[in-house]
Amino acid sequence: MARTRKPASGRKSGPRSRRKTAARPGIMARAASAFATVQRLAGHPVGLALSVLAALTATVVTADHFLSRPATRPATAPPAQVQVAVKPPPVPAAPPLPAQPLPAVPPVAETPEPVEPPPLGVTEPEPGTNPDAAPAMAAPEKPAETALLPPPVAAPPPRTGVPLWQRNAVPTRVTPDRPAIAIVIDDMGLDRKRSARVAGLAGPLTLAWLPYAHDLPTQTKAARAAGHELMLHLPMEPSVKADPGPNALLTSLPAEEIRRRLTAALASFEGYVGVNNHMGSRFTADRALMAPVLAEVQKRGLLWLDSRTTPNSAASGLAPPLHLPFAGRDVFLDNVETVAAVRAQLARTEAVARHQGVAIAIGHPHDATIEALAAWLPDVQKRGFALVTVSAVVRARGVGG
Ligand SMILES: [Zn+2]
Repeated sequence: MARTRKPASGRKSGPRSRRKTAARPGIMARAASAFATVQRLAGHPVGLALSVLAALTATVVTADHFLSRPATRPATAPPAQVQVAVKPPPVPAAPPLPAQPLPAVPPVAETPEPVEPPPLGVTEPEPGTNPDAAPAMAAPEKPAETALLPPPVAAPPPRTGVPLWQRNAVPTRVTPDRPAIAIVIDDMGLDRKRSARVAGLAGPLTLAWLPYAHDLPTQTKAARAAGHELMLHLPMEPSVKADPGPNALLTSLPAEEIRRRLTAALASFEGYVGVNNHMGSRFTADRALMAPVLAEVQKRGLLWLDSRTTPNSAASGLAPPLHLPFAGRDVFLDNVETVAAVRAQLARTEAVARHQGVAIAIGHPHDATIEALAAWLPDVQKRGFALVTVSAVVRARGVGG
């Protein structure tokens, strides 16, 4: 035996041949039995030599096959981790790869923040509104969690980035445990003194700025720094005799001019979450004219707050098919400009919030409104309400992207 083995190991050198030798005892037995069989059957010297050769070849192949198998690897891999098992076949040592928290972590991190529980903003009593649109859109939240995702494995859902209305939002939350109120002040910017007083109120409020106000970047930055959310207040044609201001969107204008005015208004300042209409009871009721306006708002990642200066606004019907993040006003605070009247409207806003879970009230930079709000705002939390921004209401409704 020792003699036959010697030449074999002498012929080849290196670890490979040594491993083969190690695997040989069982194989030799097989070869021997094959040899015996052939000897029995053939008894012929040539046949005999051939069969020995064949047996030896088979042995080598078998040994190689054997040695190249990674021991018991496959058995340990759980079904979910197919990729993991495939990756490090040859090295049995622990892979110094990215630590593999695969089983538990990814599903959790993937799950974005759950869209707010439906019972809240959903009850908005508006005819055309249905909350069923696109709850799946909630994906791009919590960028911090995104960073924790292990690089890996299944193709990650393409993240198109957080839309502008969420990036520019002043973060507040609508929660199930208390009714939420968003206070919006329109027509900001023209009267700088009163606009500054509004910005000085306890917030967060949502402040909507007219694009033709002066020095908008400075005014809006200061308001944002004071903790308020910003919107663009877009002038649109009313059905009554009133002047919506320069560069308003008018139903008599050609589409190209409407588009030009819209683009200019959108460029008047930065950092806003969306757009709401200034006046516009005629324009917003025109579905054909509103569709491209809202499509552009959606394309830019902004939300639309419908001021509802008319019950016939086309916006609520157009928003769901456009996947446009949308909300609508519930209460006007200061159609009557007295402190008492504004207080009464604030009380009404509270009632709507209790009833619906959420209420959006719109006021203006009038003295009466500012005075009533200055008294009402500091206690609103104590009275059991959450003061939120418009973006929080939109988020709670889970509409659009
Ligand atoms: Zn207005």
